[in-house]
Amino acid sequence: MTHRPALHLGLTGGIGSGKSTVARMLEAHGATVIDADAIARACTAPGGRAIPAISETFGAPFITAQGALDREQMRALVFEQPSARQTLEAIIHPLVGEEIRRQSDAATTRCIVFDIPLLVESPRWRPTLDRVLVVDCLPSTQRARVQARSGWSDETTEAVIRSQASRALRLAAADACIFNEGLSLAQLRGVVSRLAHAFGL
Ligand code: ADP
Repeated sequence: MTHRPALHLGLTGGIGSGKSTVARMLEAHGATVIDADAIARACTAPGGRAIPAISETFGAPFITAQGALDREQMRALVFEQPSARQTLEAIIHPLVGEEIRRQSDAATTRCIVFDIPLLVESPRWRPTLDRVLVVDCLPSTQRARVQARSGWSDETTEAVIRSQASRALRLAAADACIFNEGLSLAQLRGVVSRLAHAFGL
């Protein structure tokens, strides 16, 4: 049997595009999904690998009694002092990168999906990927999905969408795109299934 290296597929999309739904569907087709957000959350959860450096850099008040990052405190700080976000990211991103590499090295499937919400925003990812798949939808649908899921206000929803790459920039980075608009979940499954086949799954 010839050994073919796994296809490294980057998966991204704005919040509410349906990216996580597509990731789960690709997983059902046998892909390994590496979830950058989940890894980042684990780094800042109680006892997470980023906690010592966060405590050292920002001080004990930014760590909860359970030993996690105090998100409320951090949100307030970033609001007042935007550069704090870069400082925090400089701690978390290398740890996330390391864990992504570890999971990727351990994967034995033909396709590894790198579910990276900020793939377009962080250009360092692109050279490690064979293809980039973008999940896209209309901004009105994006807002409606986010609000239905989270109950966020219009302002919060807009602020989060504005903090992400623009739709145009994301689409420009795509090798393949799923337009997740006007599709039922069953239809979306069909689209993902065809793509999975094309990706050798
Ligand atoms: P993201 O990961 O991009 O933020 P999700 O995959 O979590 O988005 O999808 C956001 C919400 O929209 C979820 O509740 C999901 O079930 C729903 N959703 C996504 N695509 C569809 C679709 N084609 N039909 C119906 N609901 C959808």
